[in-house]
Amino acid sequence: KTTSKPPPLPSPLRFSKFYQSNMRILVTGGAGFIGSHLVDKLMENEKNEVIVADNYFTGSKDNLRKWIGHPRFELIRHDVTQPLLVEVDQIYHLACPASPIFYKYNPVKTIKTNVIGTLNMLGLAKRVGARILLTSTSEVYGDPLIHPQPETYWGNVNPIGVRSCYDEGKRVAETLMFDYHRQHGIEIRIARIFNTYGPRMNIDDGRVVSNFIAQALRGEPLTVQKPGTQTRSFCYVSDMVDGLIRLMEGEHTGPINIGNPGEFTMVELAETIKELIKPDVEINMVENTPDDPRQRKPDITKAKELLGWEPKVKLRDGLPLMEEDFRLRLGISKE
Ligand code: NAD
Ligand code: UDP
Ligand code: UDP
Repeated sequence: KTTSKPPPLPSPLRFSKFYQSNMRILVTGGAGFIGSHLVDKLMENEKNEVIVADNYFTGSKDNLRKWIGHPRFELIRHDVTQPLLVEVDQIYHLACPASPIFYKYNPVKTIKTNVIGTLNMLGLAKRVGARILLTSTSEVYGDPLIHPQPETYWGNVNPIGVRSCYDEGKRVAETLMFDYHRQHGIEIRIARIFNTYGPRMNIDDGRVVSNFIAQALRGEPLTVQKPGTQTRSFCYVSDMVDGLIRLMEGEHTGPINIGNPGEFTMVELAETIKELIKPDVEINMVENTPDDPRQRKPDITKAKELLGWEPKVKLRDGLPLMEEDFRLRLGISKE
């Protein structure tokens, strides 16, 4: 009796047979607000295969429901503070709660997510040779003493305050990115994201735009935290996603500010939402939280010059799109 080799295994039914995928992309935090819009955009390109890793702390499967079951899409319940073994070409590293009430809820976990989570994603990038983009934040500028904020500004951050788990966590994450780049030659991209708004924000997320829209729709007073003269600059989510993809695909490591330079006081924002959504709603002045930055506005010269990017959607045009989404989710139709 001759020993014959076993028959070859059937070739696995790889979807690349049907879809010419040639870019495998990991999105951490892809079930969240910005992440899920990024996934929508990446999935539009038939050459992309997208893997989302998310622990669902602030995100949800619902944000990705249209992709669940799609052959070019995969969703993994995973906490980035644990090592992750996947084979990918690019990593968009977004995993981290972004709203103050959520990141302050378990500050030690927030720090671990920023530090250990970013370290793990860099270790992964190093092992597989992937390019990695970190979504850092305008919070690295703290309560800024320079206005508007260029990327060269080092910031004014309280290292021991209640926001530090987030601000300082992101600052360490940026440091890790540059150390892996210098020490191991990893291809890195850093986006410093300024306040972003749009559909799919958590309704009870606690951030100002979602709070004011939900309050206006429910006919509750808009809660402007004192003094109300503090400013923010709000970027619509589609502009943000466009900026992140340009940064990833471009040649510049950053950090690059991605945000909308239109600057508003919180009283102005409340007045605008009142006028657009419910003209008879009250505006109440309430106590603020510690270390609230008094002003914030991106200098986007670098994004314009290096990425050819600038935001297109004005606040007055973006707010109604978010109102529509909130009405649907809250079940409050337009009178
Ligand atoms: P989000 O809270 O909606 O999304 C964050 C996602 O990360 C969620 O799906 C959450 O479940 C997931 N996550 C949190 N901790 C995790 C962990 N340990 N492991 C795996 N997944 C985890 O927030 P967002 O507004 O979409 O923000 C996305 C990114 O952009 C964050 O890194 C945030 O710091 C940054 N950013 C956002 C803004 C903004 O205005 N939205 C501003 C600056 C920076
Ligand atoms: N890591 C990971 N996935 C990988 C490779 C590494 O999650 O595919 C994690 C690994 O567990 C480690 C971190 O990334 O905690 C940093 O990895 P690196 O190889 O840079 O450092 P080391 O393992 O030598 O500490
Ligand atoms: N804010 C407010 N009312 C709210 C929630 C927030 O006036 O119901 C203010 C807050 O004091 C801050 C600004 O809105 O000055 C932006 O807060 P948010 O939590 O949205 O984001 P941050 O930029 O502070 O991370």
